[in-house]
Amino acid sequence: MPDGMIPWNEALELVLSHTPVLGTEETGLFSLYGRVLSEDVRSDMDIPPFRKAAMDGYAVSAQDCVSAPVTLLVRMTLPAGSYSGRGLARGEAAKIMTGAPVPDGADSVVMVEHTRAVEEDRVLIQKRVTAGQHVCQKGEDVTRGEVVLKKQAVIGGAEVAILASVGRAKAKVFRRPTVSVLSTGSEIVEPGEPLSEGKIRNSNGAMLTGMAEALGCETRYLGIAEDSGKTLSKKVKEGLASDVFLLSGGVSMGEYDLVPEVLEAAHVKKVFHRVFIKPGKPLLFAKGERTIVFGVPGNPVSNFTTFHLFVKPALLKLMGREDHSPKIIDATSEIDFENNNKRVYVVPSFCTLKEGGVFVRPFTLNGSADITGCARANCLCIFEPGRYRVKNGDRVKLILL
Ligand code: AMP
Ligand code: MG
Repeated sequence: MPDGMIPWNEALELVLSHTPVLGTEETGLFSLYGRVLSEDVRSDMDIPPFRKAAMDGYAVSAQDCVSAPVTLLVRMTLPAGSYSGRGLARGEAAKIMTGAPVPDGADSVVMVEHTRAVEEDRVLIQKRVTAGQHVCQKGEDVTRGEVVLKKQAVIGGAEVAILASVGRAKAKVFRRPTVSVLSTGSEIVEPGEPLSEGKIRNSNGAMLTGMAEALGCETRYLGIAEDSGKTLSKKVKEGLASDVFLLSGGVSMGEYDLVPEVLEAAHVKKVFHRVFIKPGKPLLFAKGERTIVFGVPGNPVSNFTTFHLFVKPALLKLMGREDHSPKIIDATSEIDFENNNKRVYVVPSFCTLKEGGVFVRPFTLNGSADITGCARANCLCIFEPGRYRVKNGDRVKLILL
């Protein structure tokens, strides 16, 4: 390995070992979707909380119906939400709707389709009844005190519903990381601004901000800093107020790549600089007093790939996710592909799940600046260094985005 560079998996380990899990906060039910629980949640009651009708029909005692067809006296009507303090006697039934409590004296519900109303207050039960049919027993889903969600559960639709059903108007979750994003480069101009000779548009500011936001971070876009120590120092101070500071550009070997020295002057400690990958070699990772700092190489493709390989796992760990590390998946290449790279080659690619597993098409890019070639990427293929041919049908490794 050329000096100063470290393998990408070692770099990822360093990132994660320097990344803490953030503290916790209490958040209201309607803002919990997407967050990560920081407590075990127990049910405050049995679910269902009472014996509940699972069908619209008649609540009966199965014993009364052994010689069906039989006619029963309809004593009451029980819509969902109602409750009868009075039970049924032998020979009686209650008209009941799905969700209503089954009255004492009844053990079963007969679907309305298997009954016929006769006279004003009588019902004909046409079929034999299995005791307990169409009745949800009290506590059959969850018993009171049971853990219904474990700490570090990611809260999706079902989890929100569970929290609601155990009466949690609030829950304890890990804090959302605050992420500052700074684009650097005297050649960079914001989209919408006039573009003079020698300038290029800022692709990375919106890209990094969007990707961090999509993971659930609270982002703060700091704009563009020209390649001057003074401007950079000022912006760096702002960025260091966040949990995470992403600086794009200015970490290569050029004379105006000032990010490493400006960070050092701000007492941000370098953990590593340069990784044995392509693209993304100049990646810098450093740690401020309370901030983890990534100097992401400015080429848009490097920005994209290094974000997914290194920044995303750190953001997920900060927000309490256990599944923060990228998972490497075996797939089958659908195309022939010539690799000729001295470093581990990371290629934006498109994969699909088909019969026989995951199939992937690595994209052919016109270099690290060719972000147009990355559209529709849903994974990154990882190729070991060397000169070799990957053939259609060969096994390759990838990381899902
Ligand atoms: P740097 O990492 O600063 O050496 O930049 C590497 C290459 O990426 C240069 O060609 C830059 O012009 C380009 N670049 C840097 N930042 C951006 C950006 N925010 N948007 C688009 N291209 C960029
Ligand atoms: Mg630059």
